[in-house]
Amino acid sequence: MTRFYDFVRQDYGDVYADALMCGTYEQLPRCANCQLACRRRIPPLIIEWDDGSNVIGDFTWPAGLEEIVVSDRVKTCFQSNGLVGIEFEPVEMFQKPNLKKPTKESRAKRRVWLPYNGPPLWSLVVTSSFHLDLVKSKRSVVNECQRCGRERMIVHDRAAPLVLTGDLSQRADLFRIREMGKLVFGVESVRQIIEENRFTNVQMKERGRL
Ligand SMILES: [Zn+2]
Repeated sequence: MTRFYDFVRQDYGDVYADALMCGTYEQLPRCANCQLACRRRIPPLIIEWDDGSNVIGDFTWPAGLEEIVVSDRVKTCFQSNGLVGIEFEPVEMFQKPNLKKPTKESRAKRRVWLPYNGPPLWSLVVTSSFHLDLVKSKRSVVNECQRCGRERMIVHDRAAPLVLTGDLSQRADLFRIREMGKLVFGVESVRQIIEENRFTNVQMKERGRL
């Protein structure tokens, strides 16, 4: 058994540059019953930098906790450690055409300006996943639409550890839990790697055992 953790953002105070996700999506057809239209994220991930800081952390969070952008340092480290369950895709950047980098940096609002000349950034794509044992994890799922199968999770006990189920024999250092959207989880060795390398703008909170 190894402990596992979820990846969460650390900085909300403009220490590190914040970005918003602005693409790319594929629009899916509207459900004839509930009228909701989903969209699916397709590569490449496109981000737009926000005002606040010009320092890029090792982790950037352009869509809540659902999308993770990592530095080249993280990619190199994860790959050299042979971590299983991840891929890296290129990140593209967008800047509104009316935004022009001021000639005097001191007068500028701090932000990352394009053209971007730094080391490459990467979209961390998690390819491994497990299922959640809902009962043991003190959760249940209600079906919100019979036609499109949309579901909503009800959490009965926020403090309850997450219990996984199904085929747990496959090795995965990073993984998603199918019932928990796009949150990213990692095992104890990943937490140690992140701590030893002092990667910035990320915290790992214990969520269960695998
Ligand atoms: Zn529906």
